[in-house]
Amino acid sequence: MDHVTIRTADGETTLAREQVDRLAASLQGDLLTPASPGFDDARQIWNAMIERRPALIARCRGTADVVRTVRFAREHRLLTAVRGGGHNIAGSATVDGGLVVDLSPMKGVQVNPAARTARVEPGVTLGEFDREAQAFGLATPVGVNSTTGIAGLTLGGGYGWLSRKHGLTVDNLRAADVVTADGEVVTATEHENSDLFWAIRGGGGNFGIVTSFEFALHPVGPEVLAGLIVHPFANAAELLRRYRDVVTAAPDELAVWVVMRKAPPLPFLPPEVHGTEVVVLAALYAGSVADGERALAPLRAIMGAHADVIGPTPYAGFQTAFDPLLTPGARNYWKTHNFETLSDTLIDTLVVQARRLPGPMCELFLTHMGGAVSRRPNDATAYAGRGAQFIMNVHARWEDVAQDAACVTWARSVFEATAPQAGPGAYVNFMTQDEAGRVRAAYGDNYARLAAIKAKYDPTNLFRVNQNITPSAAALGPEMPAPRPAVREPTPPPPA
Ligand SMILES: Cc1cc2nc3c(=O)[nH]c(=O)nc-3n(C[C@H](O)[C@H](O)[C@H](O)COP(=O)(O)OP(=O)(O)OC[C@H]3O[C@@H](n4cnc5c(N)ncnc54)[C@H](O)[C@@H]3O)c2cc1C
Repeated sequence: MDHVTIRTADGETTLAREQVDRLAASLQGDLLTPASPGFDDARQIWNAMIERRPALIARCRGTADVVRTVRFAREHRLLTAVRGGGHNIAGSATVDGGLVVDLSPMKGVQVNPAARTARVEPGVTLGEFDREAQAFGLATPVGVNSTTGIAGLTLGGGYGWLSRKHGLTVDNLRAADVVTADGEVVTATEHENSDLFWAIRGGGGNFGIVTSFEFALHPVGPEVLAGLIVHPFANAAELLRRYRDVVTAAPDELAVWVVMRKAPPLPFLPPEVHGTEVVVLAALYAGSVADGERALAPLRAIMGAHADVIGPTPYAGFQTAFDPLLTPGARNYWKTHNFETLSDTLIDTLVVQARRLPGPMCELFLTHMGGAVSRRPNDATAYAGRGAQFIMNVHARWEDVAQDAACVTWARSVFEATAPQAGPGAYVNFMTQDEAGRVRAAYGDNYARLAAIKAKYDPTNLFRVNQNITPSAAALGPEMPAPRPAVREPTPPPPA
């Protein structure tokens, strides 16, 4: 290799070998090119639908590595992606022909049990975080799949079983160290760079690279009441109405999510149920087991279930309960809506759509929100979907490329059929690579403020491989360069 050809914001450039070698020598972590051992592993992300080959991957081991890589990217105006856990469905952790700032080697978690806080580095997965926090009987709300990265999840908002009780992940963020587009390290809190702190609590990776998060923690478990109730699909419409009535009056401690799919071969289900459509009520009570028994009783009293496997269980264990259904390496295309109510019309539409599941791994997922999340105003942080009481996630998931069109078509058709009932906003962490046009609507009234903060911290849109907020021209002023539009990667194949 005597040079590297690499994409820039608006074309490509050629880096001499000495320039690349100088960057490599300045890093504690490895700088990978396509010829490096381990490159193919390092470029893989969770969603196998996204297949990209960066020109350089900087595997950062600390903030100093991130600073040096960002300064290099800025100097050469490189098209730059940032990778935390690599789970983002849109594939924004990687970029064809550009530079990836890979934070996955940054694995530190330091819990302060007296202060009930944790300092967490951006390569940490949810499972790694839960494990350390639970060693002290503590937790903060994070998502339901243990291999998801804490960094991307937090920056988009973040929610899980504890959110009705303790808010979004960002509601528990106390401070962050951020490497800005000019390669400076700043601290963001309610009192220091508070505009940046507001923006990173839901605005994604648009404003800089977070190299350390400080979270508030809460006593949780270690044992909680949690588990699944699995019903036959034949009762779906009536069951969902009863579900709605129970959860609408539920205490904040109780979260019950709905999954409609074909039953996986779970050991507690009779073999004749495997592969048939089912409605799963997945529940966790974030309080005492006795109180949880009382709160869950009305749902458990609904007759006709195939199985009820709710019981006292370790919180950290339940945090991995969905892992077998969400392993990396499958093809995935997801669509999302927020709903303020679960109306009869919406229930009936969801049931019709769930009868059309195109494959055994596809599912319709309803997250039960509200509670503490909805009690903060929508402009408390950049996350703008606080009115949602339910969030739909259409998980189209399959393995065979030949299924692409059928699965993508199904996801889009569920999205369109339920659009009339959708409320404002959308969760950016569940938006796909072809939804750049939806970003403004996703942030609603918060968008203009975000665009102005983007203009202050990243006026040239260095951090553009994401659900991109373009720097607002008004905030840039006449002397600043006009922002270049976001780069969109190829969209998935259109339906046949
Ligand atoms: C199986 C699965 C289950 C999920 N479950 C939930 C759930 O229960 N709750 C929930 O809220 N979300 C959930 N999500 C969505 C999840 O929050 C997003 O996919 C999120 O983007 C994952 O973060 P990551 O670090 O793994 O992703 P990455 O793909 O690495 O990054 C995501 C985005 O964040 C940016 N980014 C990452 N790290 C940094 C950083 N340190 N500084 C600046 N920018 C950064 C990236 O550039 C990219 O744009 C789930 C996703 C999957 C695939």
